[in-house]
Amino acid sequence: MSGNEQKYINDAFETNWIAPLGPNVDAFEQEIASYVGVKGAAAVSSGTAALHLALQLLEVTADDIVFCSTFTFIASANPIVYQGATPVFIDSEPDTWNMSPLALQKAFKDASEKGKLPKAVIVVNLYGQSAKMDEIVSICNQYGVPIVEDAAESLGSIYKGKKSGTLGKFGVYSFNGNKIITTSGGGMLVSNDLEALDKARFLATQARDQAPHYQHSQVGYNYRLSNILAGVGRAQLEVLDERVESRRNIFNLYRQKLSHLKSIEFMSELPETLSNRWLTTILIHENEFNVTVSSIIEELGKKNIEARPLWKPLHLQPVFNGVHIYSHNEQNVSEYLFKRGICLPSGSNMTREDQIKVIDTILNLFS
Ligand SMILES: *Cc1c(COP(=O)(O)O)cnc(C)c1O
Repeated sequence: MSGNEQKYINDAFETNWIAPLGPNVDAFEQEIASYVGVKGAAAVSSGTAALHLALQLLEVTADDIVFCSTFTFIASANPIVYQGATPVFIDSEPDTWNMSPLALQKAFKDASEKGKLPKAVIVVNLYGQSAKMDEIVSICNQYGVPIVEDAAESLGSIYKGKKSGTLGKFGVYSFNGNKIITTSGGGMLVSNDLEALDKARFLATQARDQAPHYQHSQVGYNYRLSNILAGVGRAQLEVLDERVESRRNIFNLYRQKLSHLKSIEFMSELPETLSNRWLTTILIHENEFNVTVSSIIEELGKKNIEARPLWKPLHLQPVFNGVHIYSHNEQNVSEYLFKRGICLPSGSNMTREDQIKVIDTILNLFS
């Protein structure tokens, strides 16, 4: 927490707005929209809920297919299944580790030959790094298919002058406890389509029709964000840029101390973009010291320091067994990233001393 949260929480208590609506919710929506530079935002109970609403607004139904990055957290794809639709996974490319325009192009070519285009494409910006959006937007425009940008991990990042999450028809942020700013749980759907956002708010409050009694003509959800948590979000947003700076500093110190090791590769930063460096992520290529992701995790674990592998690609998840995957080339890039990648401790409040402990542990393994 930054310190200002209590003030907004007190406002909620003093005005007795203890509900999934209220002044903090409205203000948080406006503040996020203005921060990222879009016309509007709808505050919801999670990033997953925001993704689900985006698919609902794009009228994804049981007969549809949706393309989705394979290298991501499962929440990116679950809403496709909530809609009864079929996911098709798209591999990463080596520069950004995000959706490969080459694999996406292949998937579109096949889909168009079969006469069945996807209803939407979910593009994920992992660990703060933007995907190659120019290329991806251009392919999707060519086929007239809308993009949902899953920017749950990239709030505060910039792609060619635009804030991450604003390059598709809809953008999604998460304020889960592990994200760069948090409301403990929460999410935001952003768009320049204000009508669609009104519809999102309607769907998120049980799709209640205008009537004095409770009337419903369609099925909705209970997805709105509480006015108390929105208060937490407002204070968190005030320190977002500071958080980005501290995460970038953490990244820079790791790079400064470890990049001389030739078997370590840092996730790069695409030219003309700025990553929030939500997590510092590295690849451990084969090396003469036999250092692997698991040996690093084990060694750090002995010192009570937690580190984890990168996201396991969704096409390797048992629950998505049999789902089609389009690879970037003969070797699937996301599988290599999963085998060789590790997230280093990256919390915004990490001290330099803590970080040096992590660095020394890794350096020791390589000596
Ligand atoms: C965290 C996350 C989500 C889901 O957000 P929740 O608020 O936890 O529902 C979706 N996609 C990605 C890539 C995430 O990291």
